Amino acid sequence: MTTEELIALSDRFIMATYKRFPIVLTRGLGVHVWDSDGKSYLDLVGGIAVCALGHSHPRVVGAIKRQVELLTHVSNLYHIEPQIRLAQLLVENSCADKVFFCNSGAEANEAAIKLARKYATDHMEGRYELIAMQDSFHGRTLATVTATGQERFKAGFNPLPAGFRHVPYNDLAALEAAVTEKTCGVMVEPIQGESGVVIPAPGYLRGIRKICDERGLLMIVDEVQTGIGRTGTLFACEQEDVAPDMITIAKALGNGFPIGALLATDRIAAAFVPGSHGSTFGGNPLATAAGIATLETILGEGVLENCRKTGDYFLKRLGDLKEKHARIREVRGRGLILAVELTVSGAEFVLQSMERGLLINCTNGNILRFVPPLILTRIDVDRAIGILDEVLEER
Ligand SMILES: *Cc1c(COP(=O)(O)O)cnc(C)c1O
Repeated sequence: MTTEELIALSDRFIMATYKRFPIVLTRGLGVHVWDSDGKSYLDLVGGIAVCALGHSHPRVVGAIKRQVELLTHVSNLYHIEPQIRLAQLLVENSCADKVFFCNSGAEANEAAIKLARKYATDHMEGRYELIAMQDSFHGRTLATVTATGQERFKAGFNPLPAGFRHVPYNDLAALEAAVTEKTCGVMVEPIQGESGVVIPAPGYLRGIRKICDERGLLMIVDEVQTGIGRTGTLFACEQEDVAPDMITIAKALGNGFPIGALLATDRIAAAFVPGSHGSTFGGNPLATAAGIATLETILGEGVLENCRKTGDYFLKRLGDLKEKHARIREVRGRGLILAVELTVSGAEFVLQSMERGLLINCTNGNILRFVPPLILTRIDVDRAIGILDEVLEER
C-alpha cells in the first residue's frame, strides 16, 4: 500500500481528533525514525516526551520480549512481581511511599484528584476544591480537562465537574489569595509543557509547599511531562527540594509502552482502601516490566548526566540562533525540555524541518518545543540547529 493510500484509510477509519502530518512512521532506532518511503528523521519529539531512551532501546525491548512470553496480563486481583518491583524502585527514588498504577497521564491525574477528594472527605470536612493553574495541562478526561487551565480544551464538554479554580501560574500571591475554606489542594506542573515550556521563577514550588503546609492543603505535582529524567533529575521537584504529597507520572515511564502512576505519601495514600479506585490494565506485567527496564536504565547509565549536559549545550546553541534570527523572541529550557518562542506562527517551520529530516513540535501556536530522547548527543544537536537555522533563514 502506498503512503497516500494509507493516509486515505486513516482519514476514513480513525476519528479526526488529531491533525496529523502527512507521513507514516514505520521504524525507529535511537534518536531516529523512518517513514514508509524510507526517509529518515532526527526525532526531537520523541513521541511527545515519551521515548526517553530513544526508539527500540535494547534493554526495554529485551524486557518486553521476556515478559510477553512469561505473562502478559492477569488483572489486579493477584500480586504481580514486576509491578511490585517497579513500585519499590519508584518509592526508593522519590519522596513517596506508595504507588497506584494506571495507563496514562490523564488517568494518573484523575487518580490524584480522586485521592485528594477521598482524603478530604475523610479528614478535611467540607473541603473538596482544587486550585490549578491557568494555562496548565492535566489531561483529557472530564475531571482532568476541568483541572486544565485552557479554555480551548474544555469547549463543548459542559457540564464540567465542579470543584476546580484557576489562578495565574508563577504567582504565589494569587494562589494564596484564592485559598478558601473549601480548598483541599493545589495541582501544579513544575514546568508547563503543553502551553509552551513555561518555567516558573526559582522557589515557586517551594512557595507552594509552604502555602500548602500553612493552610493544610495537599500539594499535587503533575510530573507527567517533566518526570523520569526530562529536566536532568528523576523528578523536576527534586531541584527545589520539594516533597509533594502526590506526584503523577506517565509519558516516559515505559519508554513508549503505555503506563502511568500516582505516587503518594503513606498518610494520603491510606485514604484509598480496597474498592476506592482501580484499573483493569493498570500496572500489568508487560507495562511494569517495560517501566523497570526504563527506570533502571535512566538511573544507571549516565542518562541524567547526558540530559543535563546535552540540554545545556542545546540551550546555548538555541541562544546563538536567537542572536541571528529576529523572529525568535525567546529561548528557554531545562535539561531536555526546551522551547523557541517565535514572533510568528510555528506551523510552517515544523513542516519545513520535516522536509529536511527533522521532527519538532509546535505548541500553543508560536512555540517550537523540543522534548527529544535523553540520549541525544551534541552531534544531534548540531544537526538540528543547522536545519533550524536554514528554515528560519527562509521567507
Ligand atoms: C501529556 C500530559 C498529560 C496527559 O497525559 P496522557 O497520557 O496524554 O493522558 C497530563 N499532564 C501533563 C503535564 C502532560 O504533559
